[in-house]
Amino acid sequence: MPMINEKLKPLLELQEIDKRISATESRLERIPLEIAKKNAEIAAAQAAFEQEKTRLTAIQVERKQRELDLATQEEKIRKHELELNQVKSNDAYRALQNEINGAKQQKSETEDQILILMEEYDKTLLDLKSAEARAKSVQEDLQAQVRELQNEILKEKAAIEAETRNRETFIPRVAPDVLSRYDFIRKKKKSQAIVAISGESCAGCHTILTQSTLNEVKKGRELILCDSCSRILYFADAQPVA
Ligand SMILES: [Zn+2]
Repeated sequence: MPMINEKLKPLLELQEIDKRISATESRLERIPLEIAKKNAEIAAAQAAFEQEKTRLTAIQVERKQRELDLATQEEKIRKHELELNQVKSNDAYRALQNEINGAKQQKSETEDQILILMEEYDKTLLDLKSAEARAKSVQEDLQAQVRELQNEILKEKAAIEAETRNRETFIPRVAPDVLSRYDFIRKKKKSQAIVAISGESCAGCHTILTQSTLNEVKKGRELILCDSCSRILYFADAQPVA
């Protein structure tokens, strides 16, 4: 049965505290990104609504213009029809008749355009209403989620503070030389300083360990480092040295 070094027990507990702190820290780093994403979604829904409003206004402006065109065309027809009674020559009569036909053709096209614009207006009004409803519901949902995330930031910060205080009170239980080695490896590797042996390999760098290293770790007398990555090694099923 493998033994565990005395000094390693509090260190493993310290490592658990540090793992919790760094997990909380990385969660804390991700929250602002999530908030930004939700705010961008709110802005996009609002922009879609504004776009429909702009489209609706453009249709109204164009319809007004076509109605002015229509009035001009009707006026032209009316004027030319009065003139028909006064022309003397057949040529002039035909020319005027052509003018009238042309204006009537234009008037009919303008009327078609107005009908199309009216249909577009109705359709856009429906789109506008659904974009408005969507913007409203997105805003309500996501703003609530943003508030939750902001609360979560406060909670995570409090959790880090609590764990940091916990860490400070725990430190005196760890032998100073062991602690400094632990901190050194942890900072250098930016990951766990103490790793379990998995099969016959270091779980930190996956290098296969020599039999003598494995035997030394099993004895539990000294702190044994992985030759390859310098992490402190232990057996997960090790027993305290009696
Ligand atoms: Zn290693």
